[in-house]
Amino acid sequence: MTDCLFCRIVGQEIQARIVMENDEIIAFHDLNPQAPVHVLIVPRKHIKSLGEALDDDGNLLGKIQLFARDIAKSLGLTNGFRLVMNNGKGVGQSVDHLHYHLLAGRRMQWPPG
Ligand code: 5GP
Ligand code: ZN
Repeated sequence: MTDCLFCRIVGQEIQARIVMENDEIIAFHDLNPQAPVHVLIVPRKHIKSLGEALDDDGNLLGKIQLFARDIAKSLGLTNGFRLVMNNGKGVGQSVDHLHYHLLAGRRMQWPPG
C-alpha cells in the first residue's frame, strides 16, 4: 500500500484510461484535461521528480520522451504536441511521481502560464 497516486495507478489499485504501456512506462488520460488531448506519461518506477532523478535514470527518461513520440504518432497528432513537466510544488507539480503531460488539439500560448 502506498500513498502515491501514480504508484496506485501503476499497481491497478486506481483505474485510469490507459493510452499505451510497456514494462517500464504507462500513459493514461488526465482526469482533468487541459486540452482535447491530455495524456500523462509516467514511469512505473517511483521517481519523485526530475530534480530527484538519478544519473542511472537517464535511459528511462529518454525512453519516456520516445514514448511520447509514439503516442503522438498513434493518436495522429500531426499538428504537433507539447510535452510539459512540472518540477516542484512552486511551479505546479501536484503529484510527487515524475510525469510528463502530453498536450495537443488546441492552440497553445507561449510563454506558458
Ligand atoms: P501535476 O500537477 O503534478 O503536474 O500533474 C498531475 C496531474 O494529474 C494533473 O493534471 C491532474 O489533473 C492529474 N490527476 C490527478 N488525479 C488524477 C487521477 O486520479 N487520475 C488521473 N488520470 N489523473 C489525475
Ligand atoms: Zn509513485
